[in-house]
Amino acid sequence: MGRLPFIAGNWKLNKTVEEAVDLVRQLKASISGVKDVEVAVAPSFTALYAVYKELEGSSIHLAAQNLFWEEKGAYTGEVSPLMLKEVGCQYVIIGHSERRQFFGETDETVNRRMKAALGQGLKPIFCMGETLKEREEGNTFSLIERQLKGGLRDLGEMEFKSIVIAYEPVWAIGTGKTATPQQAEEVPRFIRERLERVYSRQFAEEVRIQYGGSVTPENIKGLMSQTNIDGALVGGASLKSETFSKIVRFKEM
Ligand code: PEP
Repeated sequence: MGRLPFIAGNWKLNKTVEEAVDLVRQLKASISGVKDVEVAVAPSFTALYAVYKELEGSSIHLAAQNLFWEEKGAYTGEVSPLMLKEVGCQYVIIGHSERRQFFGETDETVNRRMKAALGQGLKPIFCMGETLKEREEGNTFSLIERQLKGGLRDLGEMEFKSIVIAYEPVWAIGTGKTATPQQAEEVPRFIRERLERVYSRQFAEEVRIQYGGSVTPENIKGLMSQTNIDGALVGGASLKSETFSKIVRFKEM
């Protein structure tokens, strides 16, 4: 069976509650009738519950942008997996490059978050990707391998089926520089090979791998035509229903 395409919008630090609800209201209308594509949106924490309420009865899923691994306690400012479940999240983005870059996220903390999410039945969108320097120095594949192994450390095979991987070259995020479809395909192909060798053939074949990095309505079709790309994690272009819905409707182009 083929892998179901999965398009997710990462709204980052954007949208008030009112704006977020307004955006999903428009989105529900603009992607109604789309079949065989799974869609999720990741608003900021403050808008999650209101967006969840607005999404009730729709097929769009709710994702959080981050979580903390503890269930409760003296961790000022953090949000637990249970809290995210309570406000209707099914997915959670983990290890986004902006968290690695600006908030000290490491492979070890990514792994702790992965375990905590899976423990509560949240599906991780597990992000990885190289910086321009790492690419230019020829370290892309070793870096990806390290991030992959680090994030998946000590996870059981049963947990693999809930994981989505997002390959996001850091140099392409928010820069308008998209990888060519061929460049974007190289790493997901490598990820699948490594997963088969290190974990299991089933995991390698079934896991969905998104591409992220300046995805637009203009480039989505070329990216989705690649064998190992099963979807997109979309930042900037997910902030308007017009552009995001065109990306979701890539099959109609
Ligand atoms: C992202 O934040 O995951 C992302 C890919 O952003 P953008 O689409 O704006 O490059």
